[in-house]
Amino acid sequence: MPDSNFAERSEEQVSGAKVIAQALKTQDVEYIFGIVGIPVTEIAIAAQQLGIKYIGMRNEQAACYAASAIGYLTGRPGVCLVVSGPGLIHALGGMANANMNCWPLLMIGGSSERNQETMGAFQEFPQAVRTSIYGRPGACYVDIPADFVNLQVNVNSLKYTECCMSPPISMAETSAVRMAASVIRNAKQPLLIIGKGAAYAHAEENIKKLVEQYKLPFLPTPMGKGVVPDNHPNCVGAARSRALQFADVIVLFGARLNWILHFGLPPRYQPDVKFIQVDICAEELGNNVKPTVTLLGDVSAVSKQELASKKSLPMNYYTVFYHVQEQLPRDCFVVSEGANTMDIGRTVLQNYLPRHRLDAGTFGTMGVGLGFAIAAAMVAKDRHPGQRVICVEGDSAFGFSGMEVETICRYNLPIILLVVNNNGIYQGFDMDAWKETLKFQDPTAVVPPMCLLPNSHYEQIMTAFGGKGYFVETPEELQKSLRQSLADTSKPSLINIMIEPQATRKAQDFHWLTRSNM
Ligand code: ADP
Ligand code: MG
Repeated sequence: MPDSNFAERSEEQVSGAKVIAQALKTQDVEYIFGIVGIPVTEIAIAAQQLGIKYIGMRNEQAACYAASAIGYLTGRPGVCLVVSGPGLIHALGGMANANMNCWPLLMIGGSSERNQETMGAFQEFPQAVRTSIYGRPGACYVDIPADFVNLQVNVNSLKYTECCMSPPISMAETSAVRMAASVIRNAKQPLLIIGKGAAYAHAEENIKKLVEQYKLPFLPTPMGKGVVPDNHPNCVGAARSRALQFADVIVLFGARLNWILHFGLPPRYQPDVKFIQVDICAEELGNNVKPTVTLLGDVSAVSKQELASKKSLPMNYYTVFYHVQEQLPRDCFVVSEGANTMDIGRTVLQNYLPRHRLDAGTFGTMGVGLGFAIAAAMVAKDRHPGQRVICVEGDSAFGFSGMEVETICRYNLPIILLVVNNNGIYQGFDMDAWKETLKFQDPTAVVPPMCLLPNSHYEQIMTAFGGKGYFVETPEELQKSLRQSLADTSKPSLINIMIEPQATRKAQDFHWLTRSNM
């Protein structure tokens, strides 16, 4: 009869030890390390019966170290099972170590018998798992009263709390992400420090992309090693002291400014070094130093945010010249004029032949560019067949002789004009700032003298006369338009390259770390 069946089932008893084992199993616990004795032996046996691996160790300290490493390696807490009194005391070292390392750990200790009331603590089991893996990971302790282990309880009176989900992924504030991207881009000597928080977060893929896209040198902490392989060309592990000492911007990905990193203080660091801190633990932010930007969130998610932000940011001089240099034929004529455009371009763009570079010269004259380019194109045609003329102009400089584009088109000279456009002389305004100035009655009273009309389509001067015109805003568009212009010898072209209006920094790469002072 169904009724009697039900009655039978409801009287089925189960021991406290089995309940604990089942609760652990429900929380996806795979490994228990420990040393058994009264009152926890039954728990270990019950766990084995449920398929949990039990590893008996020789000292609770080692057991606890092992369990905490499981937490770091798998992201779910490893369990350490010990007896009351000395067992627990021995394990304290492991708990402290797990806490200091920010590694999840579930410590289960037996204790003396308690009355029923205190046994309510058992219900805090799932909460313990959550505490160990949510926020900053760490150790937590569950106390199992001895009388509970052998207590028989009615099966139907039990309800196991569902497996605690992996922690939610938190992202940093968008404005902080943008600010960090800008600080990194304007750094002269940036450095990324990769800590074990990055390893724990499985941030390897995003951090590697970030290192490569921003061309950042990186330094792993001891356990941050391998997030990006040590043999990566951007790894400056071999020059650790120098890297720390000379960096002007340091991004910390899941690494604390503790003794391992010399507290982030001089003389091991520049006194005015700017720190960008990425950590999941709010209390960690601002420890020892005043960070320039704090990014509270998961390392993997935040590095992905930084990647996305990089894509949407305008290019700077360095990015532009890097891509130009990559495609520049070794035997070409380089004509250049402008302020930042000419200064920074000179350091990046390479010449391999004599008399193949023409620029503002001794007199620092603006307006010479297109005339020089036309002359170079004539000489190339008559004396160096096949050589191209690349004319790299600032947007202001281009204005001095822009109408010579008509001459270039009239004689069909296959000159490639690059206008590096920052909306002004030295620097300009972006569209938002520009619109602000237009709110004033009299723009001549407020428009900064360096500003030119933002987002001017200089390429249309070329298309007006039948040449090819490109308006580019991203590295990909720049690469593509350069490739097409170089391939097309039948026509002149003008590539209008939009860059960050405030970009001024000179190009630097991380060889400052490995180069000697000589
Ligand atoms: P290291 O010894 O490699 O320098 P630390 O132990 O000093 O690393 O720092 C690790 C940091 O990583 C801790 O501050 C911790 O809060 C943080 N952390 C742990 N997990 C994450 C995560 N998923 N995302 C971001 N930070 C994390
Ligand atoms: Mg650290």
